[in-house]
Amino acid sequence: MPLYVTCRGCGSEFVSGMQMGLETFKKPDTIIEDKSEDCPFCGKTNTYSKENYFIKE
Ligand SMILES: [Zn+2]
Repeated sequence: MPLYVTCRGCGSEFVSGMQMGLETFKKPDTIIEDKSEDCPFCGKTNTYSKENYFIKE
């Protein structure tokens, strides 16, 4: 499943380059840190951690 992220620059939600199953994503030992994502709305590149990601169920 694609992981979504909320842009730090403009607050838009967009699909990140990350794919992960819901079960895996919810596991506390699954760590996402300092992943670089390009926002398609404002064009800014920021780094994101797990708490910035979410899955649309
Ligand atoms: Zn943005």
